[in-house]
Amino acid sequence: MDQIRNVPFLDLQSQIGPIRSEILEAIESAIDTSAFVLGMPLTEFETAFAGYCECEAAVGVNSGTDALFLALKALDIGAGHEVITAPNMFVAAVEAIIHTGARPVLVDVREDTYCIDPEAVQRAISARTRAVIPVHLFGLPCDMDSINDIARRHDLHVIEDACQAHGARYQGRPVGSLGDAAAFSFYPTKNLGGFGDGGMVTTNNTQLAARIRSLRHHAQAKKNEHAEPGYNSRLDCIQAAVLNVRLRHLDSSNEIREALASRYRSNLQGSDYSFQTVPTGSKHVYHVFSVRHARRKLVHEELNRSGIGWGNHIAMPIHMQPGYRHLGYGRGEFPVAETLCEELVSVPIYPSLSVDDVDYVCDSLARVVVPV
Ligand SMILES: *Cc1c(COP(=O)(O)O)cnc(C)c1O
Repeated sequence: MDQIRNVPFLDLQSQIGPIRSEILEAIESAIDTSAFVLGMPLTEFETAFAGYCECEAAVGVNSGTDALFLALKALDIGAGHEVITAPNMFVAAVEAIIHTGARPVLVDVREDTYCIDPEAVQRAISARTRAVIPVHLFGLPCDMDSINDIARRHDLHVIEDACQAHGARYQGRPVGSLGDAAAFSFYPTKNLGGFGDGGMVTTNNTQLAARIRSLRHHAQAKKNEHAEPGYNSRLDCIQAAVLNVRLRHLDSSNEIREALASRYRSNLQGSDYSFQTVPTGSKHVYHVFSVRHARRKLVHEELNRSGIGWGNHIAMPIHMQPGYRHLGYGRGEFPVAETLCEELVSVPIYPSLSVDDVDYVCDSLARVVVPV
């Protein structure tokens, strides 16, 4: 075997290094103007991000989870309503639905894209359904044409969970512009990450944007006047300043992620591994690169032996989590999602990863032999 080489799962420092002085300058400028909350750096970043997503408006909030929650609230979704999403994702969308008072209705995902299955969405619609939250899993856009089509026919809102998909595109259009509203997260490890928590709602509906803008700031209509009970959920200006710099480098780092992903795919062609299928017309931005293998434990062991970091992004489907059993779903209810949760392994993918590193990881993956 080759020399053991340490390939970490993540490397945030190497992404910050080359633009460190640019970032520090932006932070200093925010400090010098005492712009800390709802100041110029936020307005600048919101304008830039709305432009990037080809949307009318972008509203900075304090996390991706709050972006989902405030979008639902602003659409008047609450008690007595149902919102459809998938069980093999991060818990945030389901949390947001539950905290509005609505009921999350889970449906299975597609075997090829790992994303929500529009036919399953169609079957789950009831008289109470008000919205669908398609999650662009790992950075791959969901089948938005089918979802929007179903939504139009049943008068449902579509809220994209784009927290893993900054810069992804679908049929020539950026995610964030494909539904009624979209939620983005700027958690440090995301493709566009800040130095703390942060989030954004994008929308083409300026009235909806105004409502979210109000809700994030105690629904303060003017000084000392509050239109309704609101929240404190603002994207602070230091984060906005950092993110505005990093936004300028997002496309180039996404391109590197894409190139590394195709290297993984071509190296592992014809092996026991399979991958997320990228439909024609979709641009995947590889927040996560996941390989699927029937004997995942063997893969973990081999990667550990080789000094390679790995991740398990959807270890347990939401409906099997202790805090969500009250939703009433059992094991076996969503066979595709459940199998994916058992068979996926996330391998390193970030802009400073070299092609050599990818080859090294693939050599390690190729050594996994399933005993007969
Ligand atoms: C990260 C993430 C979120 C939540 O974002 P936070 O900013 O951490 O609240 C929501 N959905 C998905 C799919 C995510 O990956």
